Amino acid sequence: MTLVTNLGFPRIGAKRELKHALEAYWRGESSPQQLQDIAKDLRHRHWRIQREAGADSVPCNDFSLYDQVLDMAFLFDAIPDRYRKLADRDPLEGYFALARGAQNDEFDLRALEMTKWFDTNYHYLVPELQSTQTFQLRGDKPVAEYLEAKALGLEARPVLLGPVSFLMLAKTVDGSDRLALLDRLLPVYIELLGRLKAAGTQWVQIDEPCLILDQDADDHAAYRRAYAAFANVDRPKLVLTTYFGALGDNLNLAVDLPVDGLHVDLVRAPDQLDAVLDALPAERTLSLGVVDGRNIWRTDLDRAVPLVRRAHDRLGGDRLQVAPSCSLLHVPVDATLETSLPSDIQSWLSFARQKVEEVRAIVDALNGLVSSVDTLDVARERRETRSTSKRVHKPRVAERVASLEASSARRRSAYPKRRVLQEERMRLPLFPTTTIGSFPQTHEVREARAKHKSGKLSDAAYDAFLVAETEKCVRFQEEIGIDVLVHGEFERNDMVEYFGEQLDGFAFTKNGWVQSYGSRCVKPPVIYGDVERPAPMTVRWSQYAQSLTDKPMKGMLTGPVTVLQWSFVRDDQPRAATCRQIALALRDEVIDLERAGIRVIQIDEPALREGLPLRRADWQVYLDWAVECFRITASGVADDTQIHTHMCYSEFNDIIDSVAAMDADVISIETSRSRMELLDAFVKFRYPNEIGPGVYDIHSPRVPSVDEMTELLEKAGAVLFPEQVWVNPDCGLKTRGWPETRTTLAAMVEAARRLRSSV
Ligand code: GLN
Ligand code: ZN
Repeated sequence: MTLVTNLGFPRIGAKRELKHALEAYWRGESSPQQLQDIAKDLRHRHWRIQREAGADSVPCNDFSLYDQVLDMAFLFDAIPDRYRKLADRDPLEGYFALARGAQNDEFDLRALEMTKWFDTNYHYLVPELQSTQTFQLRGDKPVAEYLEAKALGLEARPVLLGPVSFLMLAKTVDGSDRLALLDRLLPVYIELLGRLKAAGTQWVQIDEPCLILDQDADDHAAYRRAYAAFANVDRPKLVLTTYFGALGDNLNLAVDLPVDGLHVDLVRAPDQLDAVLDALPAERTLSLGVVDGRNIWRTDLDRAVPLVRRAHDRLGGDRLQVAPSCSLLHVPVDATLETSLPSDIQSWLSFARQKVEEVRAIVDALNGLVSSVDTLDVARERRETRSTSKRVHKPRVAERVASLEASSARRRSAYPKRRVLQEERMRLPLFPTTTIGSFPQTHEVREARAKHKSGKLSDAAYDAFLVAETEKCVRFQEEIGIDVLVHGEFERNDMVEYFGEQLDGFAFTKNGWVQSYGSRCVKPPVIYGDVERPAPMTVRWSQYAQSLTDKPMKGMLTGPVTVLQWSFVRDDQPRAATCRQIALALRDEVIDLERAGIRVIQIDEPALREGLPLRRADWQVYLDWAVECFRITASGVADDTQIHTHMCYSEFNDIIDSVAAMDADVISIETSRSRMELLDAFVKFRYPNEIGPGVYDIHSPRVPSVDEMTELLEKAGAVLFPEQVWVNPDCGLKTRGWPETRTTLAAMVEAARRLRSSV
């Protein structure tokens, strides 16, 4: 019989119960036991949901109090020395110290580094290893969770991050080779597998997501060594699990490894099915990921069923499992809770619970059974309403995109000419100062917004509040002598949501939370239809702010790629097509800003880099359309209107030509923490336009001195032309408080003045 399986369930809870439990514990308002009780309750609830949705087996050890990679490091005792004392005394406190740092009379521990999990918006903690690293089992979390499920009468399949991916996702602090630690790590895996077997575990899901990345011969050798070591030990069956892309040139390796099953992602890479079927050894079980674990749309069952049937015809039902493409960590829990969405949109959504139901429906259809949970007819009808909906398809938007000419993505003149015209018009000093956009979102600002949203503050009163905040912000910038001002972004809840709420084609869920890291969740907008801008979105605030001052006021927009990247995107057209629609809507906004007298406009693209595909070979195609979309947004204005962009959290070395191709007149980047190292890429490339290397680390309440900032600017000035350099913080100031902002920005202006007088 073909089994319905699942690779992982969101653990945060439909109502973010885990978040609230964690934060109460961290505030000291609840005990470790209370936290563990809630965690256990969530595990049980989630298993029950999956069973009810029709899963034959449920995953376990997919639960984590903070992060599943940290769990593995902790389980293997890969705990850096600085945490050890605390971890030995109080494992839970030690665990959270690795996750988020700890500061008290006795300890001052920074957290492990955090980084993005492949191309998702989930962030994992990077295990810190060294050449003298040893590993041993510490606790028995996977076994305990297996037994916990068993006690409820469920046969669960523990999820383990595989040894090679574990090492590849870790870093060594001494520069030694991570993979050299493999031989020391394998015995611990073998011991763990033995314990799971002894507890009765039949299958283990061993994740090796790095198998869909570019891997070299040394990497291949590591997989071979690792899985050869597991070949003849007493252990449960292993399903080697890959996701987020095609195995591609790692396919032969993957099928060669002596395991019992292989999971492949047929959502991102449906074309790999035939190659996988051809290469799969006899006896090996195949698990097909045919329901999208990365997006929130209902599956096209009429496409999924034939795909699965093709495998069924070749392998028979007993060697086949069907599952979502990857762990459901990346989607919210239950779409039926979204009762305030228009009912048609709601009926198109599939969150974690619905995704398991869809897998069930696929397997039932395969077996010719009438499904208890979902039927192909209902699914078909839903797809039908979506593919014909007037909400989704607006011919005039498609026509406009189709009629775009190459010139729409080009400024009228090249940068050197624009520069002269902008200089003539603006007459800015050397080393002009500006900020990235937002000013402190204080408690009062958030409170006013919350009250307005809940109806406790009238539109007029809220508006008056924002007017006053904006004015204060403008006056402050004038007072300290900033050259290009901003309005402060007090009216914005979030840099994507604010625009999504004003654009057609976006919907907002009530409970559509997904974990970003630890207890932090995001609620991405849902782009369901053709994107249009019914009315100007930001003109009013920029215009008002400009009316207060003779200094240039910078208009502030979130760029098309970032809007796309931080939303759930429609799956019925290519991402590039959706991005072009957003770009056109924003282009209209840029033109309206210019018309309203705003002659400096910043289009933020902090997420441009994170949109890079996982395989190098796919980078250029993405970069080409991403840059084109930015240019469509930016190119509708006169030569003497100055376009800025801002990109933080980016490394630029390998994408610098595309960044240059964006052709913004000014780019501001984050550089203060790397002491200007991130600027190297621009220097090497001889980047021709203007650059504002951040001199103020806005992630920290620390106030940098004038000397410090002057020194950073001198560093930048030494490698760039002085006329190229702008002076600004690393990023927006929304998370900072006013006192430190005042002091630091005044010091930043002073640093710019010092520099001017020294050239
Ligand atoms: N303009 C935005 C701000 O200042 C930019 C935020 C970002 O780059 N993440 O808040
Ligand atoms: Zn930023």
